Amino acid sequence: MSEKKPTPLVSQPSGKVCPVCGNRTYSQGGIHPQCAVHQADAARCEKLKATRKLEVAETTPSTWRSKKCPKCKNESHVRRKVCDCGHTLF
Ligand SMILES: [Zn+2]
Ligand SMILES: [Zn+2]
Repeated sequence: MSEKKPTPLVSQPSGKVCPVCGNRTYSQGGIHPQCAVHQADAARCEKLKATRKLEVAETTPSTWRSKKCPKCKNESHVRRKVCDCGHTLF
């Protein structure tokens, strides 16, 4: 009547714990092939996100740039050449 007990993870010298999913792996390098792919993908996604953030920051200014019309004191977009009141903005 000897029941085979599952060996605890820590006392097993062979096999490593995959750093990605946390499950045991017997693959070389100590990482599941699919997890390695996932990890590489995640790294690439992270890079992509970073570059995307940069692009967004460049294309959309954080503050709406405006200039005040000296005549009516209304704010117009900095690129506008003529104010609503008809005053020419430099
Ligand atoms: Zn894994
Ligand atoms: Zn004006």
